[in-house]
Amino acid sequence: MWGMIATWRMAVEGITRGAEMLKESGDAGDAIEAAIRQVEDFPYYKSVGYGGLPNEEMEVEMDAAYMDGSTLDIGAVAAIRDFANPVSIARRLSREKVNSMLVAEGAEKFAHKEGFERKNMLTDRAKAHYRKRVKEMAAQAAAEELKPYSGHDTVGMACLDGMGKMAAATSTSGLFMKKKGRVGDSPISGSGFYADSRKGAASATGLGEDLMKGCISYEAVRLMGEGIHPQEACETAVNRLDRELRERRGEAGDISIIAMNPKGEWGAATNIEGFSFAVVTEELEPTVYLVTREEKGRCTYEKASEEWMEHYMKTRMAPIEE
Ligand code: ASP
Repeated sequence: MWGMIATWRMAVEGITRGAEMLKESGDAGDAIEAAIRQVEDFPYYKSVGYGGLPNEEMEVEMDAAYMDGSTLDIGAVAAIRDFANPVSIARRLSREKVNSMLVAEGAEKFAHKEGFERKNMLTDRAKAHYRKRVKEMAAQAAAEELKPYSGHDTVGMACLDGMGKMAAATSTSGLFMKKKGRVGDSPISGSGFYADSRKGAASATGLGEDLMKGCISYEAVRLMGEGIHPQEACETAVNRLDRELRERRGEAGDISIIAMNPKGEWGAATNIEGFSFAVVTEELEPTVYLVTREEKGRCTYEKASEEWMEHYMKTRMAPIEE
């Protein structure tokens, strides 16, 4: 059995590409890297790679990670600028025994030395989003509804290949209007991602500052390691963290997670409305599902309709009214 599951609708073209490789006995690491690169390269996804939304200083600073579930190798970059495919740099770093997580200039220096493709990741479209948000923030300055950080989303994936190897990877430009140097959960092992070929792989998206409080990806993998189905593992991990945060802090940020186990069974859970994910297995063509959170944090999902898919693309590509 092979398969891939990923956060958000934006991942479906990527996992389709990954599935082509897995079908041909491809390696989980190669497939997940190719799949994430596809999302990084598409300019209309405004929270990952090229076209990603900038920080407060109008710079696109990206976080990415890669984990090999068989060797437990981890590589990650954080706050890296001006490189086309952060996930590939993260994967390259995962082969280093030390210095396998690099940030900012250190990461850029390494990527340059290794010959990774340089690219100005700030598109005109992302600049327009920035200018629009600055105006909105000024207009709302007095209102309590000020939300400089809305407009994020990470592509996070879990992958199983036909040889039983699992991998996890992430890529994001992080929170829109974040402070320069801010690092989210996505490059942090156990929070944004985790993979263990014996137990399963998982990845998270949402408010990094809160996801890190529960090491949520590790928690989902740990639960799968106890024989719990990925769906239940995801729901338990999300609901426990959501409850703890509400009890102790009075509120919880967005928490969403996807997971797959070594049998190719999968699951997804969220504490928000509007979470979507994409999945493909040997038995299931690439499919986008929309998640509904029911009572007691049970999560159900239904296949996204044609209309929904069309509307999604239209809104992603619509001109930005500033
Ligand atoms: N988790 C990401 C971050 O905090 C953003 C997201 O997934 O929406 O950087």
